[in-house]
Amino acid sequence: MSEPRIRIEDALRNYAQMSPGTPWRSRCEEKAADEIQSLRQRVERLEGALRGIVDHFDKCDDGNAPGHAHSIPGIWDSDNHPAIAGKTCEWCAHWAEAYAALSPKVQEGE
Ligand SMILES: [Zn+2]
Repeated sequence: MSEPRIRIEDALRNYAQMSPGTPWRSRCEEKAADEIQSLRQRVERLEGALRGIVDHFDKCDDGNAPGHAHSIPGIWDSDNHPAIAGKTCEWCAHWAEAYAALSPKVQEGE
């Protein structure tokens, strides 16, 4: 069983309410720093895995995810099953989101 994780927003909220002389303030900072480091490591791991998946496929410039060829990128064609025709394709939407998440613009905003 894993140790319960602190939530960074709670640690920072508590920190903001403490006066500089509060004995627990440095402990709060330490927990916040640990949580930031843990989250950063997790993001880097997930980013690496996602980049590996995206790089596995050839670059798709037509707006569709690999293996899909919608007439309107990301939208199921009108001749598909009536339940999905004309609706957003979840696979293409996830693919587009993965690409956007790995784009330099997102990384610059860090
Ligand atoms: Zn699709």
